[in-house]
Amino acid sequence: LQISQEEIQSKSQELEFLANRDPLTLCLNRRSLGLKFDALFTQAKADEMHLSCLMVDIDFFKKLNDNYGHAFGDLCLVRAAQLIRKVVTMPGAFAARYGGEEFAIILPATPEEVAHDVATRLATAVRTLDIPHVASSKGRVTVSIGLATSTAAVNDPQQLLKCCDEALYAAKAAGRNKVRSSSL
Ligand code: GH3
Ligand code: MG
Ligand code: MG
Repeated sequence: LQISQEEIQSKSQELEFLANRDPLTLCLNRRSLGLKFDALFTQAKADEMHLSCLMVDIDFFKKLNDNYGHAFGDLCLVRAAQLIRKVVTMPGAFAARYGGEEFAIILPATPEEVAHDVATRLATAVRTLDIPHVASSKGRVTVSIGLATSTAAVNDPQQLLKCCDEALYAAKAAGRNKVRSSSL
């Protein structure tokens, strides 16, 4: 059995791709997010540059699954990931699947106002997909987004993610289909 160097190289690239990705959405997986985010955070600190992070969570997703089936929920996750790739285009930015129906988006060299604008455009774009969701008070699939931007007071990437998560919680509490910034 002969295997060429080219085949080995292409297989190893394929394996590396799969090891870093969520198989459903093809976004980076959480492990890969951790590695990249740590490095970017350290770099941003050293360069005294802004680093913004968005946590995007689909509203009433459990009810979506319950009403339309798990396969429909899966499709919705794929559509959301595609939309994120379309809206988040700035150099160095990337999205990862953080949990079931949650995506983290890292925006290097991005101040809060710009990140807020990206988040608002993304939330509007998801609503504009017009995916039906009769069990949601919004009638359509929507997302809530929490945003945090690193400042001198933020010492490690986990702290930034925690702030982002708190902002997401505030967006949910404010009625969903909302963007909220961390009070950092
Ligand atoms: P909220 O508006 O507060 O965000 O409520 P929610 O229903 O979206 O959130 P909750 O955490 O209660 O439910 C998340 C659901 O996501 C539960 C789980 O079954 C579903 N889920 C997680 N991973 C997947 C997946 O890969 N595919 C599908 N279809 N569903 C998933
Ligand atoms: Mg949700
Ligand atoms: Mg969630």
